[in-house]
This record gives sequence, structure tokens and C-alpha cells, in this order.
Amino acid sequence: MAPRKVLAGARVVLPTGTVDDGRVLVDGTRIADTDAETADTEATEAAHTEAVDLTGHWVVPGFVDIHNHGGGGASFTSGTVEEVLRGIRTHRLHGTTTLVASTVTGDLDFLARRAGLLAELAQQGDIAGIHYEGPFISPCRKGAHSEELLRDPDPAEVRKLIDAAHGHARMVTLATELPGGIDSVRLLAEHGVIAAVGHTDATYEQTVQAIDAGATVATHLFNAMPPVGHRAPGPITALLEDERVTVELIDDGIHLHPAALQLAFHHAGASRVAFITDAMDAAGFGDGRYMLGPLEVEVADGVARLVEGGSIAGSTLTLDRAFKRAVTVDGLSVEDAVTALSANPARLLGMADRIGSLEPGKDADLVVLDEGFDVVGVMRQGAWVVDPQLG
Ligand SMILES: [Zn+2]
Repeated sequence: MAPRKVLAGARVVLPTGTVDDGRVLVDGTRIADTDAETADTEATEAAHTEAVDLTGHWVVPGFVDIHNHGGGGASFTSGTVEEVLRGIRTHRLHGTTTLVASTVTGDLDFLARRAGLLAELAQQGDIAGIHYEGPFISPCRKGAHSEELLRDPDPAEVRKLIDAAHGHARMVTLATELPGGIDSVRLLAEHGVIAAVGHTDATYEQTVQAIDAGATVATHLFNAMPPVGHRAPGPITALLEDERVTVELIDDGIHLHPAALQLAFHHAGASRVAFITDAMDAAGFGDGRYMLGPLEVEVADGVARLVEGGSIAGSTLTLDRAFKRAVTVDGLSVEDAVTALSANPARLLGMADRIGSLEPGKDADLVVLDEGFDVVGVMRQGAWVVDPQLG
């Protein structure tokens, strides 16, 4: 049995607000208490309680990334099991305690086999499931996906990918305006899989139809979709205005102009934004040449672009950088950043009973940040991934 730990002295961000000089009592893999007085009493009464002084630091819930293709030099679409685990580990070191592995467009049989491998990792609890980005996306908005492998969203084929994930399919990004799109959205919703509108050329009206059919997420809002026009308000307007939709944003300073991010945040509100990385292999690794599915990518100064055509090809973001940027550059409150980086994605995954906030009974997944919002500690299920006392 792991000893109990009481994390003391930090500013702790709880669902009810931020507590100065807070306490988090961790017992085994779970949070036992977050109330300062009772946590102190419980910690004193129990033997083998280790006290960790975090004065001058923040304690926030572990980050939850619902859209992530890789990191640490490894690809979730093509890496070996060892490589995938290295990618997961890389993001954990940056505070992401829950991660959904995203694939890029590939041949249907390849994706089904890939889902088999990723489903085993989900079964072991290494990842929270699988997100298929493509192949059911628009050739007009393909971004860094292979055009020759794109296909219309045939519900039978969508079903094949759901089945291949053995209950671990969490999200499918699709262009809902394509033939079969709306039926596929309905199928996904019926199976409890998130239908995400993205890499789409849909009109405003077509997007409204998709939301009414059950689509609940906007895949990296603004990126890979038509812009807002005064007579053609497009998918962005439909996705932002509907309270049933959560919008993904990539806050790396490259994918979005800061004002576009502000616009989305103010319009949707903190409760409907999920910050994601959309990271590729180079995240937490470095510049160089990489493969994204079958396409070659050049990463220079942390910006990933297709060698052919120069499209942005995912990011090299980690969620700790997104958090720091949200608070120090975008002017978000720490509480709103926590909502967008932990609580909302946890809710979307249907895991809010276990993760996404610091509450008794939930997994002890948390991030310790210094005053400059840099990571100095990461705990996952009660064990330090990054030990703040060793920093
Ligand atoms: Zn992606």
C-alpha cells in the first residue's frame, strides 16, 4: 500500500474555487480529502503520512488531452507499443495524466488493426481511448491527411472502426456534409462515441443539421474549416453558438491568432472549450523530419509543416505550455484554464466521476506548477511522474 501523502501549502484549484494554503490528502491512488482542516486532522491521525510542502506553488487537476497524435518522437498512428508508451510518457511529464490517442487518415484495414493495438493500451489504462481523425473528411479541408485515402463517411465503415476499438472508440472527426455524414453522426451518437465536426467544408446550415443529429465537438475550431463570412457564416458560427457543442482549440500561438482564440472563448464560455494539443511526434522531442501517417513533415522552430505543400501538420504543443499561455498570454483565469484543460475534456469522455477535478474519491491526478506556471510536479493515480521534491 502506497503511503498517504498530504500536499500542503499550495494554492489549490478546487471546483468551488481556489484555496490559498490548501491541502490535498492522497491515499493510495485516490484523493481522500481536499478540506484543509479535516485533511490535516486525518493526516495527523494516520500513520505513514508523508508531508509534501508545496508553499508558493499551484496544485491543479491533471490535464486531459482528447486530441493527440504522438510525442517524444513516437507516433500513435504507426509506432510500436514501446514507442506509443514513450509518447504517452512524454506528455505525462508535461502534466497530461489522461490522453486519448488520435490516428490520422489511413487505409480502413490499417486503422482497424491499429485500433486493436491501441485498444489493448486502453484496456490497461495507458490511454483513455481512441480518436479517429479521418478518413471520413473533406478533400477541400484535408490539412495533413492523404487525399487518396479519404472517403465518404459510410455508416457501415464507421461501424467497422467502432467495433475494431473494442469499446474504446471515443471520438471520430468527420466532415458531416459528405454523403453518409449525418447517418454516421447518428450511428456514433447511438454508440456513445463523440461525433466531432472537423476537416469540413460544411455550410452553416449543414453544420446545424449535424449538431441536431448528435455532433457535440468541433475539431480544432477555425483550423481546417471555412472562415466566417457575412453571408456564409459557415461551420464556425454554428459550432460556437450551439450550447450542445464543445470547441477544441489549439493554443500554441501558431494555429490561432490570439484574438481568434479570445473570440471563441468569450463566445462559447469556459465551460464549452477544450484545449487540445493535436500534437505529433516532435512534441517534447525536437525539430527534424518526421512522418505523419504516410506524409513527410518538417519541424522547424517547433512548427510542423508538410514537406509537400507546407500545410500545418499538427503541433509540437504539450498541455503545460497551453496552460501557461492561456494564463500568461491570453489572460484567462487559472480557474477557466483548469476548466478548459481538465474538467471539460473529462466530462466529454464521460469520466468526470473519476478525473477532471480535485475532489475526494477521484483519481489523484494533479499537476504542481510554480509561480511562473511551469510544471514542477505531476502525480498520476497517486504516484509521482515528476516528483516536486526532486526538482
Ligand atoms: Zn489531429
